[in-house]
Amino acid sequence: MPSTFLAIGECMVEMAPTGGGTFAKGFAGDTLNTAWYVRKSLSQDWAVSYLTAVGNDQISEEMIAFLDGAGLATDHVQRMTDRTIGLYMIQLKDGERSFAYWRSQSAARCLANDAAALSAAMDAAGLIYFSGITLAILSPEGRQTFLSSLAAARRKGAKAAFDPNLRPRLWEDAQTMRDCVTEAAGLCDFLMPSFEDEEAHFSDASPSESADRYLKAGAAMIVVKNGPQEVIVATENDRRSFRPEPVRSVVDTTAAGDSFNAAFLAEYIVSGDVDASVAAGARLAGTVIQHRGALVDLSSGLVA
Ligand code: AMP
Repeated sequence: MPSTFLAIGECMVEMAPTGGGTFAKGFAGDTLNTAWYVRKSLSQDWAVSYLTAVGNDQISEEMIAFLDGAGLATDHVQRMTDRTIGLYMIQLKDGERSFAYWRSQSAARCLANDAAALSAAMDAAGLIYFSGITLAILSPEGRQTFLSSLAAARRKGAKAAFDPNLRPRLWEDAQTMRDCVTEAAGLCDFLMPSFEDEEAHFSDASPSESADRYLKAGAAMIVVKNGPQEVIVATENDRRSFRPEPVRSVVDTTAAGDSFNAAFLAEYIVSGDVDASVAAGARLAGTVIQHRGALVDLSSGLVA
């Protein structure tokens, strides 16, 4: 397996309130969060690369500098001349966070337009990681390009990991979301849903039912996360469950699933040990949720 972990998706500008009507600028997005934690978890024998599309402007340059600074390879980042990156703003009201998005025209929506570039990146990867948000932001043609490039890369030996991250508002309709996610699941070695989403949008009665549905769709290993409850890992011949260590002081669950996926995959591609991989995922996610923000720098305990 080539030693490259390739994450594909959208990274946005994040405007986080700092009080008095001012905001701190950062960068975040579900697949970016996972790539960021994978980079922290894997040895330097592995390259961790992020594929997205950006504009030609200053804020796009700043995002690339941010990715570089995090140790992520940016050679597959595509440049659009007529678009720029998406943005979201976190708003606080009575201690509750809400989000406003400006992403409908973002450059990342075009990341599958150049099929040759997408295939070249996927073919060079050992493990390809993407999410339902990656698929949601693409056009219907872009999704088909994405999935056929993924299928071709897998035939050449790449593995694929997918978090459905179901966000119906990003899709044209809920049935298209369910159909596309089910099709993508059939191309995956690791399928990593959160039960809360699956229950809401596929009406699964239990995490085991989600695992069965994705096994039937053709995914090889299903890892169903369920907040503080048991994580289920299912393959055709094996099913296990693990209870994460309880976390008493949950501060912010942003990126719980993204960080779990990162540590799970980083451990699994090195050791192939399911128990150790779930333990690593739960340990990292359990730490991340004790801090505010998506990207928690564990070496200093500071939020990046
Ligand atoms: P989720 O995507 O919310 O299901 O969470 C992903 C992972 O984060 C879970 O599988 C747990 O390992 C961890 N996690 C989330 N919430 C909690 C919690 N309240 N206590 C302990 N671990 C949690």
